[in-house]
Amino acid sequence: MKINTLQDLYIEELRDIYNAETQLVKALPKVAQAATSDELRAAIEDHLEQTKEHVERLDQIFESLGAASKGKKCKAMEGLVEECNELLDEDIAESVLDAALIAACQRVEHYEMSVYGTLSTFAKLLNREDDADLLGQTLDEEKEADETLTDIAESTINAEAEQAEESEEEEKSSSKKSNKK
Ligand code: FE
Ligand code: FE
Ligand code: ZN
Repeated sequence: MKINTLQDLYIEELRDIYNAETQLVKALPKVAQAATSDELRAAIEDHLEQTKEHVERLDQIFESLGAASKGKKCKAMEGLVEECNELLDEDIAESVLDAALIAACQRVEHYEMSVYGTLSTFAKLLNREDDADLLGQTLDEEKEADETLTDIAESTINAEAEQAEESEEEEKSSSKKSNKK
């Protein structure tokens, strides 16, 4: 499709994030399952439900534009999901797995936040106020998801990951001592 106008670009960007959100609906259940912290798993599961709503909001927008939602693959999201899957295949200590999952999820949220920020600006410029409302709601939910992940990381998981490292080091140095005897 040739992109001539801001409206064309708007639709192209909407298709990109539509594809990204549908990739996430497929990918997030496995990520939630992998989390060891109940708090983290619940947060990811909650955001999966929100993600399904994000798809529905986009469906609504495509319908009012009379445009097809399909036709673009978000390669960026494909890459982010792939990195996350690589992580799940990796031999990774339980104490740092959740920290790694949070890092992967936050990359996703930041990508989405930037897309929805752009899209709500475009919607306003195109005088599509209803779209701007829907896109703004999703943007707020992406931001909240990101903040929740930061809170979980700062309150528990990063500390646990660090503690695990310290006790590992202690073990190493105490085994060195006992080796000297
Ligand atoms: Fe989303
Ligand atoms: Fe993309
Ligand atoms: Zn999200």
